[in-house]
Amino acid sequence: MVRRAYRARPRRRRRVNDDQVREALREAFRTFSLPRMMPMLHPVPKPDRFEAITINGGRSRLCSVCRELIPTTAEGSFQFTYPDGRVFTFHDRCEQLWQEERHQVRR
Ligand SMILES: [Zn+2]
Repeated sequence: MVRRAYRARPRRRRRVNDDQVREALREAFRTFSLPRMMPMLHPVPKPDRFEAITINGGRSRLCSVCRELIPTTAEGSFQFTYPDGRVFTFHDRCEQLWQEERHQVRR
């Protein structure tokens, strides 16, 4: 699986490139491990103070796309929380690529 290939790499610097992130996104869409919808578009009543999108969220967690750590000082990271309880975290760049890829037609 894709995840294992990344982990096997000992590099510590800037992690995965855009192509690898896009590939991980396509795989995640294929296997439904990542949603294509923004959390606030789900037509479900939300609990009080439910925060669907947290800007600068997900710090010190693993990115749901590239599986690398999101630094505690990261700027522009996101946490998406879905009404069904699923939580996804994104690097700034990984979220941008998610936005692009989720609109691509399935192949
Ligand atoms: Zn990432």
